Amino acid sequence: MSYINENFLKLQENYLFSTVAKKVAKYSKENPEKDIIKLGIGDVTRPIVPACIEAMNKAIIEIGTQEGFKGYGPEQGYEFLREAIIKNDYNTRGVELDLDEIFVSDGAKCDCGNIVDIFAQENKVAITDPVYPVYLDTNVMSGRTADFDGKKGMYNGITYIKMNAENNFVPEIPKERIDLIYLCFPNNPTGTVLSKKELEKWITYAKQNDSIILYDAAYEAYITEEDVPHSIYEIEGAKDVAIEFKSFSKTAGFTGVRCAYVVIPKALKGKTREGKEVSINALWNRRVCTKFNGVSYITQRAAEATFSEEGKKQIRENIKYYMENAKIIKEGLEKAGFTVYGGVNSPYIWLKVPEGKTSWEFFDFLLEELNIVGTPGSGFGPSGEGYFRLTAFGTREKTIEAIERINKKYN
Ligand code: PLP
Repeated sequence: MSYINENFLKLQENYLFSTVAKKVAKYSKENPEKDIIKLGIGDVTRPIVPACIEAMNKAIIEIGTQEGFKGYGPEQGYEFLREAIIKNDYNTRGVELDLDEIFVSDGAKCDCGNIVDIFAQENKVAITDPVYPVYLDTNVMSGRTADFDGKKGMYNGITYIKMNAENNFVPEIPKERIDLIYLCFPNNPTGTVLSKKELEKWITYAKQNDSIILYDAAYEAYITEEDVPHSIYEIEGAKDVAIEFKSFSKTAGFTGVRCAYVVIPKALKGKTREGKEVSINALWNRRVCTKFNGVSYITQRAAEATFSEEGKKQIRENIKYYMENAKIIKEGLEKAGFTVYGGVNSPYIWLKVPEGKTSWEFFDFLLEELNIVGTPGSGFGPSGEGYFRLTAFGTREKTIEAIERINKKYN
């Protein structure tokens, strides 16, 4: 008999987005004439910018020549890309990093999920609630939680840090000691951010408690306000306590191309049970070299091109386009009488569902009455109940039409 990893059996039956997809597919099959507008899943719609396409084309020609052929590349990513990342994403914000503190990968989802490999099972884990489900489910799979409590909608053995309108979406610093803390800002799903001052409190907490912060900055490129940190390393001392995840997916439309990176400063240390300090960077490097063979050369050239002058300009245009959508959604919903959060430093709009409806009831209503697909807040955790997420990643026409449908119904 081959025994299975029984932690997988603790997972709740359906991953949020597959439930949404199944409901939409069913409705669509039964009502083929309906024009459904999808503002649910966080995927982009703008094509890859010309600067990246040119770089990929050039790389394709290059690898077809004897001199330019590339076999296995460095598991951690080519130096040209790691240099460009440090220069553009960090040095410009006053952060110095070494090349071997950057690990290029094929996605922040994999990185956030895989990072659990290098930490002991008995670590106490905290997530914000609501949360990007990957942090939670990968900890369930790897056995860091007890069973799911259906009444509370929470796993036992994990700390949920509430983030809702009552605390202005600022997660409260835990009273107890936590080993691993997942933070994501700009936040998915709420679209809200933490100020520098608030983030400083987390660094102080992590230092005092010997904790590690797993900081997901996948939406950093959408920040528009001054006092919002683009990287956790803008906060003094963060290199001692934080890992940062970044992605080209939402910045440059690479959701299909696949490229991301993790920053693990060499100053970051974990401990063995005997109390011996171990470099987290060295552990991750060992894992990467064993389980990963690097991102394709073509993709890394495309990622590098996002930092060229042309690339930056073209990407900025796309982000502006999505943020204009966010503004249309936010203002349109407010006009229709909704209470709305996010949408200023993030492509996500988090709205309060009308009194008396649950998040899923509002999902069904929007799908069936207005033919609009969003994501029910409760799918991101119990504190998401009563909220609903819309994304600004749709096309301008569909975004405007969706808001018109809502305004017709509510005005
Ligand atoms: N982190 C957050 C918070 C996300 O919302 C997403 C995607 O939606 C990811 C990571 C995944 O990024 P990637 O496409 O690089 O895997």
